[in-house]
Amino acid sequence: MVDRLWTVLLLVLSCIVSFSYASLGDKDPSYRACVGECEVSGCVGKLCFPQCNSSSNVGPWYTQEPLYLQWQKWGCQGDCRYHCMVNREKERETLGQPPLKYHGKWPFKRLLGIQEPASVAFSVLNLAMHFYGWLSFFITLYYKLPLKQDKTAYYEYVGLWHIYGFLSMNSWFWSVVFHSRDVDITERLDYSSAIAVIGFSLIVSILRTFDIRVEATRVMVSAPILAFVTTHILYINFYKLDYGWNMIVCVAMGVAQLLLWARWAAVSRHPSNWKLWVVVIASGLAMLLEIYDFPPYEGYFDAHSIWHAATIPLTVLWWSFIRDDAEFRTSSLLKKSKTKAK
Ligand SMILES: [Zn+2]
Repeated sequence: MVDRLWTVLLLVLSCIVSFSYASLGDKDPSYRACVGECEVSGCVGKLCFPQCNSSSNVGPWYTQEPLYLQWQKWGCQGDCRYHCMVNREKERETLGQPPLKYHGKWPFKRLLGIQEPASVAFSVLNLAMHFYGWLSFFITLYYKLPLKQDKTAYYEYVGLWHIYGFLSMNSWFWSVVFHSRDVDITERLDYSSAIAVIGFSLIVSILRTFDIRVEATRVMVSAPILAFVTTHILYINFYKLDYGWNMIVCVAMGVAQLLLWARWAAVSRHPSNWKLWVVVIASGLAMLLEIYDFPPYEGYFDAHSIWHAATIPLTVLWWSFIRDDAEFRTSSLLKKSKTKAK
């Protein structure tokens, strides 16, 4: 137990360290000068962006749609930052210096206007795998396994996995949006929905691994976690988006549920134990990617995108475990009722 605690502590510390180095690139004076100049002139070197000048050409600000103006401002700032970063990174590369992060992100190459194409592609695949997993769970429950007389499933964790499936798909959807275009609102939506799914899966892990089936106990266990997760989401949205603190919360909730599943895999005689072990160990390793993050290879594949790639096969295995669990519980419940009938 003690060395487990140490592992958690080390994980948490290392993410604080990796976050405090987050944005050395945008502190660089020549980068700052470049962005400042670009936002006035609308140009980086010979490259000029129409979004930066159009508002002054079209008329006074109050004749414009505010949202449209806002969007233009984002576009101009985004283009300036991107091209100043590309230039600065070229300079650094010729000097033999390693890449730096800008505004908390590695210097990615854009593809068809998408900021982080690799993360977007992997997020789409994660979303697809969750949909496929949830659908096959649904089909197993209602078309393959026997149902009660009132046409409901025997499996006691149905509702929880439905909510889990919905929250997962929601979070991958916002991940696609956020990695396509990183602005304040898409970042908040991505972070909030990720916290929601991590918090909810912590609840599921407690309820499932301790076999909590009584409704009142379920409410008692979930209420404090729900309250905490809600407060945390409100905190990062309306008070302060503190990346370090948010990372601690997510890693702590993530590690807690991995330990719960690991304990359960060790003590319960679940027929699909091995799937649990693979998911737990691989997720633990994948989490390390998020913590020891490295710059993008070829401008596309950074640690975060590889992390999103790693969760694709894990999602498939995870939903297959959930299906197995539904079959296992249903068959043992039916056995019990048969022996009772005898
Ligand atoms: Zn992401």
